[in-house]
Amino acid sequence: MTEECFMCTRLSDNGPLFVADLPSSRVYFNEDQFFPGWVFVVLKRHAVELYDLDPGERAALIEDVTRVARALARVYRPVKMNYELLGNLVPHIHWHLVPRLEGDPEPQGPVWRVEHEPRALPLDEARRRIAEIRAALG
Ligand SMILES: [Zn+2]
Repeated sequence: MTEECFMCTRLSDNGPLFVADLPSSRVYFNEDQFFPGWVFVVLKRHAVELYDLDPGERAALIEDVTRVARALARVYRPVKMNYELLGNLVPHIHWHLVPRLEGDPEPQGPVWRVEHEPRALPLDEARRRIAEIRAALG
């Protein structure tokens, strides 16, 4: 854990947006659901780059990411899954998994290009979606 790292702080957060605890990561529902099903998969330890991980750790993380993507696909039926590992703003390995659905406003581009007002779901609907994702994770 590195002091003042937002992701390290968030790893202890079991708040309403927490989805699941997986072998190498924890999963959180993005508060902004303008793109339905957007979640984060956050590495449990502080590391910045994939090449900072040993091969076993990296493989375990990819397994987690793949498992979450498959669960999102079951729930949201996307045209295409997007996997984004940026870390420019928060340099702690965290993937944005974004199912891109039919009717997407910019299906050819990354979500970052789509200007929009953040769309938080009512809490009961967020809970229902999170429960569906958990069930799909098995
Ligand atoms: Zn961190």
